[in-house]
Parts: sequence; C-alpha cells; structure tokens
Amino acid sequence: MIPVIISGTVVTALRRANRVVVVTGAGISAESGIPTFRGAEGLWRNFKAEDLATPAAFARNPRLVWEWYDWRRNLCGKAQPNPAHHVVAAMERFYHHFLLVTQNVDGLHSRAGSRRMVEVHGSLWRARCLKCGDTVELPMTSFEDGKAVVGRVSSRVARCLEEENPARSPGLQPLPTHAACGGTLRPAVLWFGESYEPAMLQQVFTALEEAQVVLIIGTSGGVALPVDLAAQARQAGATIVEINRERTAVSRLAHERLEGRAGEILPELWRRVQVGHLTDEIRARGRHKGGRLMIGIAGPPGAGKSTLAQALKAVLGREAVVVPMDGFHFPNARLDALGLRARKGAPETFDRLAFELAVAELRATQKPVSLPLYSRELHEPVADALTVPLATSFVIVEGNYLFLWPEVRNALDLKIYLDCDPALARASVIARHQQGGASEEEAVRKFETNDRLNSETVHATRGAAEIMIRRNAAGWTVERVGGT
Ligand code: NAD
Repeated sequence: MIPVIISGTVVTALRRANRVVVVTGAGISAESGIPTFRGAEGLWRNFKAEDLATPAAFARNPRLVWEWYDWRRNLCGKAQPNPAHHVVAAMERFYHHFLLVTQNVDGLHSRAGSRRMVEVHGSLWRARCLKCGDTVELPMTSFEDGKAVVGRVSSRVARCLEEENPARSPGLQPLPTHAACGGTLRPAVLWFGESYEPAMLQQVFTALEEAQVVLIIGTSGGVALPVDLAAQARQAGATIVEINRERTAVSRLAHERLEGRAGEILPELWRRVQVGHLTDEIRARGRHKGGRLMIGIAGPPGAGKSTLAQALKAVLGREAVVVPMDGFHFPNARLDALGLRARKGAPETFDRLAFELAVAELRATQKPVSLPLYSRELHEPVADALTVPLATSFVIVEGNYLFLWPEVRNALDLKIYLDCDPALARASVIARHQQGGASEEEAVRKFETNDRLNSETVHATRGAAEIMIRRNAAGWTVERVGGT
C-alpha cells in the first residue's frame, strides 16, 4: 500500500469548517467492488448507454432495461459500504451544516448511514410510475443468499412488485407496475438526455454558496455536473479538495488534490481532523484552567482508548504523558499508611485507590512525579517506571471505569468517553486475547465473560463525559462536546 500523503492545509480547513459539502461519484464505490462507468473496467465498455439508459431505450425494450437494472441491483445489493462511505456518514454527524451530493445510484451511502443527501441521478432502489408519477421503494431483500438474478426480469424485485399486484400472473415475466394505479414502473434513475430536477439543483447550489470546504471524491467530471458544482463553490469562496486516483476535469478547479484511493485517504484524513479537533479542545481547556490538566478517557474494552491517547500524545508532544489506569499500583504498605486500603465500599480498591493517590501527586504542578506502575506483561509492580516531568501540562489517563467513582471523576478536569461499535470492540478484544496466547475459543470465552460485564458496567459511566467520541468503521468521530 502506498503511504497516504495528506496536506496539512486540508486537515486545517476541515478542522475550522462547519459548513461542508461532499460530492461523490462512482469512484467512491469502486473499492466496494462496483465498477465505475469510465476507466479500464468501466461498465460502459461492455454496454451501450443508448441501448439501456435512455427514455427511448425504455420505450423500445423495457424488459431489457429492467434486466440491466436488476443486474445492477444484484451487484450493488451484494456490495458493502467501504471506509470512505463511512467517513462521509461520520462527517454528516459531525458538521452542523452538511450536504452530500452523490451521482451514485448504488444506495451505499444510505446504507453507511448518510441521510442529509441528494441523489442527483436517482437510485437503483426506487422506481417511478409513468402514469401517476409516484415513486416506490424497491426493497433490498433479495440478495443475501447471493443467488444470481442476472438476466431475468422476474427477479426478486419484480416478484415483490408482482405480489403487490396479484392481477399479474407470475411466471410471465411481467413488467413491474404500480400497485396503486396500475401504471408502468420505470427505474427512478436519471437517464441520458433527461434534466435534473430544478428544486434539487437549487438545494445543492444553496449549500455550495455557503460551503467553506467542498470535497469532490471519485468523479471523472465526464458528466458536467461536478465541474459546474466545483466552479460555483470556488467562486463563492470555498476551499475545493479533490480526492481521486488520477487527474480529472475537476482537477484544475481544486485548491488541493489528494491522489489515491478514497477508501484509504478518507479514513486517514478523518483521523487527523478528529485528533486535531480534540487537541484544540484540550489546549483551550488547558489555557482556561492554568496548571496541569487531568484528562480521563473511559470507554468499553476494545474501544481503542490507548490508541486514542497515544494519537493525542503524538500531537501534544512532550507536554503530555499517557498513563493507563490499570497501570497504577501502589504498595500495600503505602496504601495502609494513608488509611486507604481499609476503607469501606471499595471493591475495586486496587485501581481506584492507587489512582486517587496518583491524582493527588499529579495535580501538584510544581514538581516532577514518579509513578509506581504495574506491568501488565510481568504481572507485578514496577517501581518508579514512569516519571511525569515538570513540563507536563496534560496527563492523559485511560481506563474502563474511570468515571465510575466520584473521587476519581471529580479529580479529572476533562472527561472523554470513547464509545465503540460493539462488533468492532468484540473483534479487537478477542484479537488482543489471542495475541496474549489464548486460543480462539478461549479468547471468545474470555470476552463473553469478563469483557461483556466490563462493558455493561462501563456504559453506566458515559453520562459523566464532557466529550463523547464514537469509533466505528470510519474511525473516531467527536459526537458531542459540552460543559467547559
Ligand atoms: P466515472 O466512472 O466517470 O469516474 C470515476 C472516477 O473515479 C474516475 O475519475 C476514477 O479515477 C475515480 N476512481 C476510481 N477508483 C477510485 C478510488 N478507489 N478512489 C478514488 N477515485 C477513484 O464516474 P462518475 O464521475 O461518477 O460519473 C459517471 C456516472 O456514472 C454518474 O452519473 C453515476 O451516476 C454513474 N455511476 C454510478 C455508479 C454507482 O452508483 N456506484 C457506478 C457507475 C456509474
């Protein structure tokens, strides 16, 4: 894999923006296995557009046209959204003002969770009645079993439509008709020679007028629209960023070009935007507070707390230290001397008491602190393994239950909760147990017992968080920042 090169200008532009428009084309779905139209494996190399995707073609041979769309629905129904689709969906949740303008008809954006979206070329998953103009949804049910329906009009889709319209006898491969009025249905896709809906275009141009950043992803500009959109947005003052494997008709209008695969570039870009956003917030709070800022990252096992902590440290540099909560260990004698071990109501004494003690020491900004740490590998205390130097402004502590105990919660200046897609968390915990030498079966069992319990307990703590972050296939996304 070629390393992804991402200019800092793009990261900064996205960090500062709150009005973003994303324009996508067939290239964003290429990594999901859906062929683009142009290019080496393009669809139009094997099919003639005028035979299949024009009103005249439909009038001449509607069955053939439905077959072609059945074939494409079959292909797209079996494909899965890729990381680029997930990042676009995460952007929508992140930015107050956001619009996705897609030329794609494959439905992958909406399956990845995109909602504020305009499908300018329609969708394979809708049909329109030629008699009354109504649009009907074509259910995405048929393709899980992977059976090919290539070349048959009476695919599952047609059957669904037949079921709604019993007057049609099955087996005769009838053309789909509208259950309500009996009119002929056609794919709700914009064909060659047809015009864009004016109201829809208006919505797009209004969003572009106000956009600060416009990302144009995986489109050749062979269809004129993306070029027009880029020109309009550039004139209105937006920063135009193109993400594509090669130069295109849009390139000359782009302020920045990120060359490569969308599925690789977008997750890395998004990771950097999110980490940048978080460190901005941390620095702002640090300035506000003065002195050392104690930051807690809590969240379920497998959420990636330590990875996030390390990513923050990579940006904050020598000003920050990262301490895993379950690394704190204080000798019993020291706990006894402080009367902590004997205290009631502390079943999780080890972490909690050690942490209380550590926090007390770490809060003192005037001295370097030496923390006795516990080694996970050696399963024993390691004396004075971590020194927090005087210059440390940010102490990032990460651990599952961090906000569960009031003493600990109150000691933190900033509480970050990192949530995670359960399937992802499960997979990463199981992989970690396996790396530790467990067989697959043991790893799964450990997860089912310890980690699920942990997760349930940890979820109770998320309410205390001031910053909520979610990790899913798009990586990390800051979902809420509150309470300074
Ligand atoms: P296009 O086929 O003309 O161009 C695809 C572009 O994507 C090319 O510039 C190519 O370099 C780029 N690309 C390919 N792989 C990429 C990757 N992994 N990452 C980033 N870029 C990549 O497609 P278009 O510009 O969208 O326009 C053609 C029309 O095709 C549109 O109207 C669209 O509706 C239709 N179309 C849609 C689908 C779909 O829904 N998935 C598929 C094919 C065509």
